[in-house]
Amino acid sequence: MTKDNQTLDELKNGVLRHRTIKNALLFRGDCQQSLFALARKAREAAFASRSVEVRSVIELSNICRRKCKFCNIHNYEKHKKYLIDSSRFISIVDHIYKRGRRVLLLQSGENPSENFIDLTAGYIRLAKRRYPGLKIILCLGNLGLRQYGKLRSAEADRYILKFETSNAKLYSKVKPGDTLLRRTICMRYVERTGFSLGTGNIVGLPGQSLNDLADDLLFLGKFKLSMASASVFIPGEDSAYRNEPAGDLDITLNYISLMRIIYPRLIIPSTSSMEKLRKGGQYLGLMAGANSVTIHDGTPEELKNSFPIYSVNRMTPNEPHIKAIVEKAGLTLSKKELPHV
Ligand code: SF4
Repeated sequence: MTKDNQTLDELKNGVLRHRTIKNALLFRGDCQQSLFALARKAREAAFASRSVEVRSVIELSNICRRKCKFCNIHNYEKHKKYLIDSSRFISIVDHIYKRGRRVLLLQSGENPSENFIDLTAGYIRLAKRRYPGLKIILCLGNLGLRQYGKLRSAEADRYILKFETSNAKLYSKVKPGDTLLRRTICMRYVERTGFSLGTGNIVGLPGQSLNDLADDLLFLGKFKLSMASASVFIPGEDSAYRNEPAGDLDITLNYISLMRIIYPRLIIPSTSSMEKLRKGGQYLGLMAGANSVTIHDGTPEELKNSFPIYSVNRMTPNEPHIKAIVEKAGLTLSKKELPHV
């Protein structure tokens, strides 16, 4: 029996040792296809409906206090600062609700100013009053416990705070001025305020090892999560890492499958970064066990280039693309949110 077949057998028997995970991350060919099939089986056992949660994203503002080395957003000479105002916000919400969306992701650079938090809480209230069934996910970075509380009181439902890497040294390197400890404390705050918590990593960060990725998968087990993602590293054109090689799509897909096998009930997105790296990459994410997609129909067209989080020419999936890949994967788009913790 080859090492890969032995690893596959271990996974089938629920053996989830660090070494097993590390071996599986390198699967290719038949073993990789078997890994994907195992992940799809785990997804079907956990989510009988074969549904894919679809979210619309509104990138509220590109103002950010950080300078993450993998991100382009802080080049304000090139990308003017913006903040979507409340009348624009509500007209976008009206538009996407009419299109049938019931899950909305509000994303922004990290801006802990009280004004911004109050403004965002007001936007959430406005949207919830108008559309009580609308679910709101936030992705706004590190904040204080009281600020998370304010946003939760405004009735936002879920909060995504990606840990990016569980290697504390690497974390401080890629996110100068921040620490993994601080991030973890914020994740605990999010849990304490009653949000449903989501997180995620980046696969292929400069200086990241296979060991780190196996650690990342086990790190997820420390939290009560409803969502987790894996983005493949893209060297952003204006970022400090612009000359670094991109991450490996196959390792990212294997990571997604392993997340699904180890934590079957997670909502796992198939991210646009995978499509950016390889045409068809987002479809492969669904085949590897993901069950969520984001449609970029919330950020006004003229502002999309001002939110170049991983690439100036990032991929912003539209509805026809999403429908096509979901159908091809034998799945259906869910109008409602998927059940989660
Ligand atoms: S990744 Fe997020 S927190 Fe970091 S610089 Fe970009 S927008 Fe800011």
